[in-house]
Amino acid sequence: MKIICIGRNYADHAKEMNSSLPSVPMFFMKADTSLLRPGTPFFYPSFSSNIHYECELVVKINRVGKHISERFAHKYYSEIGLGIDLTARDLQEKCKEKGHPWEIAKSFEGSAPISKTFIDKSELQLENIQFRLEQNGTEVQKGTSADMIFTIDVLIAYISQFMTLKKGDLIFTGTPSGVGPIAINDVLIGYIGNRKMFEVKVK
Ligand code: ZN
Repeated sequence: MKIICIGRNYADHAKEMNSSLPSVPMFFMKADTSLLRPGTPFFYPSFSSNIHYECELVVKINRVGKHISERFAHKYYSEIGLGIDLTARDLQEKCKEKGHPWEIAKSFEGSAPISKTFIDKSELQLENIQFRLEQNGTEVQKGTSADMIFTIDVLIAYISQFMTLKKGDLIFTGTPSGVGPIAINDVLIGYIGNRKMFEVKVK
């Protein structure tokens, strides 16, 4: 399986990063080894001193498809989960400066905690899925799919022009504003609506 992450899909986050708004989706990838198994702690790596959380809705692809048109994209996913696109911001800044690929900042071990359960999309109002992240009991991020620049269907159509999507692939759909650093001993809890989706301890 592969993990595809969308950059700058919320205007307020692009603004806080001093980034321009994209006219087409921008995506990058994480290795399957970046998945953090639900219930296991995230170990803060020694190569970074500025790891940020980015809480994101995660779409699970349910069948093989390529060149999927936007109007049929809804057939390619049935469940939505929640995850964190952990980002070594210090390494990412250096990569950006040099124009280098940024896998070392995005695709490291454990950099993709995801929820154990995914919610059937029939239980959600897809155009307004509300989600939030708490860090040590304080709400630090709050978002809704209503604020996505590119909808899930647009993302699937776009990505599938370039690569075949397969059953089990995950799409991290971008983060709203409020990203910030994590620290050892933090507890990060994510919710979709009032449903607790994950709890990640940082060690
Ligand atoms: Zn992200």
